[in-house]
Amino acid sequence: MSTWSLPERTLALAVAVVVALVAVAAPVLASLYLARQQSIAEQQAHMAQLARDVLRRSDQTRTQLIEAFEQMKDVDPATPCSPGRIRLMGRLALVSDQLQGLAYVDGDRLLCSSFGVFDPPVPVGAPHYRAAYGGEVRIGVELPAIPGTGFILVSRIGTGSTGIVHPRLLLDVLTEEGDIAVGLIGRSARRPIALRGTFDQAWLTALGDRSAIDLFDGDHVVAVRRSNIGDYVAFAAVPAVSIEAGLRRTAAVLVPIGAVAGAVLAFAVFYVARLQLGVPALLKAALRRGEIFVEYQPVVDLRTGAWVGAEALVRWQRRNGETMRPDLFIPVAEESGLIGRVTEAVADIVGREAAGLFARQPGFHLALNLSSIDLASDRVLDLLQRLAVRTGARAGNLVVEITERGLVRGPAVGSRLEALRRSGILIAIDDFGTGYSSLSYLKTLEVDLLKIDKSFVDTIGRDAVTSHVVSQIIEMAKGLKLGLIAEGIEQEQQLRFLRERGVDFGQGWRFARPMAFDALLAGLEAQAAAGPGGTPATRSGARPASA
Ligand code: C2E
Ligand code: CA
Ligand code: CA
Repeated sequence: MSTWSLPERTLALAVAVVVALVAVAAPVLASLYLARQQSIAEQQAHMAQLARDVLRRSDQTRTQLIEAFEQMKDVDPATPCSPGRIRLMGRLALVSDQLQGLAYVDGDRLLCSSFGVFDPPVPVGAPHYRAAYGGEVRIGVELPAIPGTGFILVSRIGTGSTGIVHPRLLLDVLTEEGDIAVGLIGRSARRPIALRGTFDQAWLTALGDRSAIDLFDGDHVVAVRRSNIGDYVAFAAVPAVSIEAGLRRTAAVLVPIGAVAGAVLAFAVFYVARLQLGVPALLKAALRRGEIFVEYQPVVDLRTGAWVGAEALVRWQRRNGETMRPDLFIPVAEESGLIGRVTEAVADIVGREAAGLFARQPGFHLALNLSSIDLASDRVLDLLQRLAVRTGARAGNLVVEITERGLVRGPAVGSRLEALRRSGILIAIDDFGTGYSSLSYLKTLEVDLLKIDKSFVDTIGRDAVTSHVVSQIIEMAKGLKLGLIAEGIEQEQQLRFLRERGVDFGQGWRFARPMAFDALLAGLEAQAAAGPGGTPATRSGARPASA
């Protein structure tokens, strides 16, 4: 195992930075993108509504024009401006809500209308175009009595009968926003009949033969609708800039929210990354500054509840008050080659706190966790022998816990364990059942205790299959004449199950949590005072008397 090399760290940090940047940018961009899509969709619906409106009015106007032309058909063409005919035109204009008036056009001259005879006639010029269904259209025609308004004149070909339409009537749709363009466009002539704002021929081209189109060409959100009865289309368009104005308002809300969310995320990523990368350095400093200490979790006799031993568990409290969990930093210490120093620190602290303990508590045991790396060197033998001297340990007072993974590391481990056992130290297999399925090592290696992993104890009463495995482990341990310690007992039901199957020892919050050495000692003294069979754990149900 090696510590992370510099390039690896740099790479990891770079990845963390990229992740952090993405974490900041992604929510903001995503929310803006969604807001833009949303607002385009809303505008599209609005434009479609306006275009349909214009089209409906235009179709109505067309229908009324045709009705009026039908009515005028029978009048004598020789006297197109007779008083009778002018009265008829007046009446027809009155009943129509879309036609401003009716008129008679001869060539390019307007001779008379529902308002009366024009004398002299009004020149109206040639038609601007001819619609596909037989109408001639003139746009922007000023009438003498009403200067300043360009009327639309639609004539039935060959009859001179003409309708006068006010362009605003066609376009008088509700538009609060000033920058919306609406219009009615002659389809085959590709010319506007009535227009407010600007019209782009490309929109008509995009419509092609279809009857409706909604499009966003990057500049405008546009809706075009074709009439089913006349040769024209209606459109409405809003420039993208006015969407962007709305978007800016949305962004003003979303961007700060996104930025804060992103920053929190980025900070978390950074924090974790830095912690991972920085742990070896932090741990080195922690070992120097004495931020490392030890807590002891009692091991109890499951029949009597008496505390028969304790497991030393390393603790790391940083100066800023933060605690680092051993299952996070122990693996890092193993990878970075610092585990030996951690083990030394733990042995040293236990030696100091538990000095002379076994002279007073000869039947008690203390367990230390060893990493497989510890077993690769001879230092561990010296370390434990020194600990035995300081604590006054005799055979059976000190236990080392090694995981299954640690055991299968090679022949050197086996011989080192042998040496430990010869000096009276017991060997326990930690987290038993979680490592290798092959248990062959149990036959070749001499061990004393098995610790049933908490994950198995957890299944008792919950998962029939796995709690069956617990029973098998128990049977096997008995067959091999090994002592059993069940870890992580939290519930009465688990305790009962294990006790019924003859498991001797247990550990868990049901009895006691890891505690300072003083608390352990106080518990032991209370237990001694209560006499044989009476223990603080059995009587109070959970805690030493001092707690
Ligand atoms: P482990 O050796 O299996 O230690 C038991 C872990 O389970 C401890 O967590 C203990 O606090 C916890 N525990 C005990 N009873 C209960 C219970 O009833 N319920 C629950 N939920 N948890 C319980 P801790 O102290 O966080 O230690 C985690 C692991 O870190 C240890 O697992 C061990 O693998 C490692 N470790 C701890 N101290 C040392 C050490 O000094 N050296 C080495 N090499 N590893 C250590
Ligand atoms: Ca352990
Ligand atoms: Ca364990």
